Amino acid sequence: MIDTTAIHTVQNAFSRKHFNRVLLQIEHQAAITEKNPAGPVEEFRWLRECGALQLVLPGEPLDFNKPDTPALLRLLKDVGKANLSVGRIFEGHINTLYLIHLYAGNDQRDNWYRGVKEEGHIFGIWNTQGQDGITFNKNNNSLEIQGSKTFCSGATLVNRALITGNISCPERTGWQMAIIDMDGIDPEKIDRKSWKPLGMKASGSYTVNFSGYKVHENELLGEPGIYLNQPYFNGGAIRFAAVQLGGAEALSQATIRYLEELERTGDAFQQLRLSNMMSAVITGRMWLEQAGKYYDTWADDGNHNEELIAFANMTRVNIEEICLRVMEDCNRCVGARGLMEPYPMERIFRDLSFYLRQPAPDATRIKVAEFFINNPAAFND
Ligand SMILES: Cc1cc2nc3c(=O)[nH]c(=O)nc-3n(C[C@H](O)[C@H](O)[C@H](O)COP(=O)(O)OP(=O)(O)OC[C@H]3O[C@@H](n4cnc5c(N)ncnc54)[C@H](O)[C@@H]3O)c2cc1C
Repeated sequence: MIDTTAIHTVQNAFSRKHFNRVLLQIEHQAAITEKNPAGPVEEFRWLRECGALQLVLPGEPLDFNKPDTPALLRLLKDVGKANLSVGRIFEGHINTLYLIHLYAGNDQRDNWYRGVKEEGHIFGIWNTQGQDGITFNKNNNSLEIQGSKTFCSGATLVNRALITGNISCPERTGWQMAIIDMDGIDPEKIDRKSWKPLGMKASGSYTVNFSGYKVHENELLGEPGIYLNQPYFNGGAIRFAAVQLGGAEALSQATIRYLEELERTGDAFQQLRLSNMMSAVITGRMWLEQAGKYYDTWADDGNHNEELIAFANMTRVNIEEICLRVMEDCNRCVGARGLMEPYPMERIFRDLSFYLRQPAPDATRIKVAEFFINNPAAFND
């Protein structure tokens, strides 16, 4: 994880201007970072310096207590546009802070928020697992973890990791969240050989073995089962969809720049494809904007969970289709010469193809269909 001992002096209040400069730096560095075994260490230092890590904490511009989800989604999209791997890790940080906002006790919240503000801590959220998934086991009076998580994005950068697993003891039974201090995990337990993906290499989404870690009571987040609470669980898909759309936006802009360089923008076939690509990207922005508005209106009212989840599911699958369409048109626009280094398209292409693979894509579409079969007049007003 990142050593944060020397960063106290460089934490600033969030500044959009500074943030925009950071996004340009992140974009310029993306090709180098992909090949850096340490991952996007500098990128997260820059994000910390411009106040982006604390952006959603109380009193900050996107304070979760005064939700502005459309603005949050635009910001996540912008980070994804600069570098999808950085966007993935940053989204995990924001997601974890949201679960803390929803479910932590006052002392826990103060402690974890202080870690972000004063120590520059990065949070991650790791739920995915294989056969040897996580269990929390009571040994005498202590609670000990057994098992591993897979796809741990930012495993070598994250300071506090929200992990989930089964707990079964007299006080607690079910799927429990805990926030682990990564200083307590031997770096050897992060399996660097476990990440040989098509794209998103810089996300360093390694397998981490947590066996032997002793969990303190104040590291347990919420009651067992609450992680899956709706509409927050499925409704949250709009955040990763926002990051994905950033990749499509980056591809379309890189395509225009490439065609300009080759003086091919006057060609009608190219223009037709550019028209399709840009329309698709703008459509994606509209999905996100409306999904954000519904989220702010409905997430906490308890009466519109089904509508909210259906809209989030539609947003997710439509953005997947949009990204696939943009990739195909980009591919045809730039051809083989454009799909190699030093042009950025080949990397973004690999990253986006891979990052689009999120859980249960078919089941999500089935859920959308079921919703409209049961509510044919939904979203009519
Ligand atoms: C870059 C990246 C970073 C990630 N980072 C994190 C992270 O930080 N934390 C985290 O918790 N997770 C993370 N994940 C994991 C992610 O949340 C998903 O678990 C993962 O992407 C799903 O992978 P999959 O495509 O193999 O899924 P699958 O669900 O296996 O889907 C593959 C295909 O199989 C189909 N399918 C699914 N179930 C069945 C079935 N029973 N029968 C038949 N077909 C089926 C699906 O519809 C789909 O067509 C990350 C993933 C990626 C790609």
